[in-house]
Amino acid sequence: MKIEIKSAKDCLMWYADMIGSEWSVLRHDVGYFLVKDNENRLNIIHKSDAIIVPDDGDTIAVWFSCGAASAIAAKMTLEKYGHRCNVRIINNFIKEEDPDNQRFLRDVEGWLGVKFESAINSKYKSCSIVEVFDDRRYMSGIAGAPCTLELKKKARYEWEIKNRPDWTILGFTKEEKDRFNNFKTNERQATVHILENTTKGECFEMVLDAGLKLPDMYIWLYPNANCPGCVKATSPTYWNHVRVMHPKVFQERCEQSREIGVRLVRYKGKRIFLDELPPDAKGRSMKNMNFECGIFCSK
Ligand code: SF4
Repeated sequence: MKIEIKSAKDCLMWYADMIGSEWSVLRHDVGYFLVKDNENRLNIIHKSDAIIVPDDGDTIAVWFSCGAASAIAAKMTLEKYGHRCNVRIINNFIKEEDPDNQRFLRDVEGWLGVKFESAINSKYKSCSIVEVFDDRRYMSGIAGAPCTLELKKKARYEWEIKNRPDWTILGFTKEEKDRFNNFKTNERQATVHILENTTKGECFEMVLDAGLKLPDMYIWLYPNANCPGCVKATSPTYWNHVRVMHPKVFQERCEQSREIGVRLVRYKGKRIFLDELPPDAKGRSMKNMNFECGIFCSK
């Protein structure tokens, strides 16, 4: 059984209204909703049986990462909710991303006929990962990557505090159901898996069918349109690809990681400094890499 509940706000208000009554044993945090059906009867619905969707007039924030999936997520959100909700599309600018990402952003703006907004962390107005690494004296490891935390997650929080969106949508594809569920559980309950039935490959096709040119990062065979030299990557294959495609970035990461004392790459079972990596070393294929600089996670 799946029940569509139109308004999360109304639903939670119903729950609040019933506190103190005979229904007070029901708690939102134990996984139930109280809802009225069409004939005004009260029903107890388990959360797993409820699909809550945006109500008319709600504000929906779609986070555009300059990737193909988030472009299609923005398009589908506008198609599905644009006529009755206030859909806002926001990007976190990162100085070290390839400049062609911003060209893609402008192309998608033109395609959708919507001006995108920008969200930044006011503590790091330069939006530079290098500045964050210097400031935090950390680049990446078991505690995550501070660049994602500072420039994406905290920037989103700042935007949310100012703009109070009712809903948050990200470009999680069909293959990324676990990531979507993780985001829903740990970050924002009010979210829609807009690409629930759309694969990453289909997103690429739709972007190309629309006559858009993909960001150069994909053309250069990177696994995503994030920064070249992403510090979340540990694979020798990835880093040697950066060495060839973006030698200046490779050199900068070598120097900064050595200076801060961070072993970015894993080779033969142990972490080593980037400048110790043999140029012919190989690891996992880039196609199988699944690191993503999401705004949903600082890990
Ligand atoms: S892509 Fe990588 S390096 Fe760039 S902000 Fe995200 S986690 Fe940091």
